Amino acid sequence: MHLYNSLTRKKEEFIPREAGKVSMYTCGPTVYHYAHIGNLRSYIMEDTLEKYLRFTGLDVKRVMNITDVGHLTSDGDTGDDKMLKGAKREKKTVMEIAKFYTDAFFEDCKKLNIKTPDVVEPATSCIDEFIRVIESLIEKGFAYEAGGNIYFDTSKLEKYYVFNDFKEEDLAVGVREGVEEDGNKKNKADFVLWFTKSKFDDQELKWDSPWGIGYPGWHIECSCISMKHLGEYLDLHCGGIDNAFPHHTNEIAQSEAYLGHEWCNYWFHVLHLNTNSGKMSKSKGEFLTVSLLEEKGYNPLVYRYFCLLSHYRKSLVFTWENLDNAVTTFNKLIAKIKPVLSDRSGEIDSAEYDRLMKSFTDALDNDLNTSLAITAVYDVLKSKANSATKLALIEKFDEVLCLDLIKTAENAEAENTSADIPNEVLELVEQRKLARKEKNFALADEIRDKIAALGYEVKETRQGTEINKI
Ligand code: AMP
Ligand code: ZN
Repeated sequence: MHLYNSLTRKKEEFIPREAGKVSMYTCGPTVYHYAHIGNLRSYIMEDTLEKYLRFTGLDVKRVMNITDVGHLTSDGDTGDDKMLKGAKREKKTVMEIAKFYTDAFFEDCKKLNIKTPDVVEPATSCIDEFIRVIESLIEKGFAYEAGGNIYFDTSKLEKYYVFNDFKEEDLAVGVREGVEEDGNKKNKADFVLWFTKSKFDDQELKWDSPWGIGYPGWHIECSCISMKHLGEYLDLHCGGIDNAFPHHTNEIAQSEAYLGHEWCNYWFHVLHLNTNSGKMSKSKGEFLTVSLLEEKGYNPLVYRYFCLLSHYRKSLVFTWENLDNAVTTFNKLIAKIKPVLSDRSGEIDSAEYDRLMKSFTDALDNDLNTSLAITAVYDVLKSKANSATKLALIEKFDEVLCLDLIKTAENAEAENTSADIPNEVLELVEQRKLARKEKNFALADEIRDKIAALGYEVKETRQGTEINKI
């Protein structure tokens, strides 16, 4: 497989350090609020990558952290801790917030068929590891104490700005942008490893350390959690593009300073999901979550499909119209699978199977081209292969795509042949679908009441519209 590596800025053959095995690390969510569907775009694409690596026969061990302390409102070293802000907003404790939103995150993942990584580790359970690594960084001369905090000294590195898609001067400005300069730092790019005396004194969670009572910085979490579970070498590190700087840059700085050798070979960054008005945010405008999609009647897997239709290295614009287009093409795809289900007889034609499989693997081998992989599903359906071959291929592709293609087609089949529903009800159901499509939710509710008056209940489910007798 060839993957674009942000570190070398080239598409490269992906060769894990140890034959047949992959160590993979993912920056997990900051659990101060629900994940928005932008965050989940990153997790969907990383999940697809993991599943494809497994599909090719590699044994993947994937680790993810849960950021429940240390991530400040700015990705640098300023602002309140996001967790504390969340706790204040909801008048709960930080740990209550962390538990609630960690569970909510995994529920969203489940709805999107995102597999839970092999190891999930909250930052608050690794404080001893952070302290040990920070102590070693101080000993090795890579970190210093100033004003009560411990800082990483970026001037000790030969090269700090490793993701040199950016200009060094721009990044230096980025560090300062909108941020009061921290007089303790020896160099502008230095970053905090451990906070004790900062202006964020009301931090709820604090731990004893050799430098006083305090809490870790965000970046040290990922280095330590990765090293704890995956050892000194990492094959593949993933995250959204905003993580490249400063977060991943700092992870590399401190990990390599600590280890004394190169740490991670491949860096996989997912470009952002944006709205028409720019970057998706949890605080501005409509807060787009999986629950909101469901409330509006969308099957969450259609959102997964929507993401797979675009390449992970291109920004993607979310609009309801774009999502509706994905619904239409998803339903068409399901409609094409339906007739194949009714005839499962026949032997698998291995020549056809291999030929069609090759177009799927060629697509994904080429820097995870998921949209071409979906075209490969259409190619299967258009091909002259018999139904057994088609079904076997679609089932196999869906180990990676995870769109529940066969199950959804089966359920759609059942829906069509179900109950003797009067035409009047069916017509109203169609009118209601149209009203929902046009976002006329008041009219949709009105029609639902009319349907109820005729003795039927209509419900949107993950598989589509369900009509039942009351
Ligand atoms: P956070 O919960 O803020 O730590 O972010 C979780 C993940 O979502 C990180 O990998 C971010 O890089 C990623 N992310 C944040 N915003 C977006 C976005 N609009 N589109 C795609 N990924 C995002
Ligand atoms: Zn991270």
